[in-house]
Amino acid sequence: MVNSRVESTAVAVTGGSGGAVRSCAGCGGRISDRFLLFSMDRYWHTRCLKCSCCQAQLGEIGSTCFSKGGMILCRNDYIRY
Ligand SMILES: [Zn+2]
Ligand SMILES: [Zn+2]
Repeated sequence: MVNSRVESTAVAVTGGSGGAVRSCAGCGGRISDRFLLFSMDRYWHTRCLKCSCCQAQLGEIGSTCFSKGGMILCRNDYIRY
């Protein structure tokens, strides 16, 4: 199993005209928010990037999330498991 630390980067999107439409890796919906997150080579709504264990919204906690076995975890759960 590959455990890895994943940097989650908040990306500011301006305008939205003429740009590529990004779909959220969490809910599959189109991201039209002003801010989105780029993590694990995917784009996320800030509210959709959650810890798989405790459902904490990782976009609000900080800029770093963790990946283990395909799950996205917050720092606490990553250390715990
Ligand atoms: Zn979403
Ligand atoms: Zn958690």
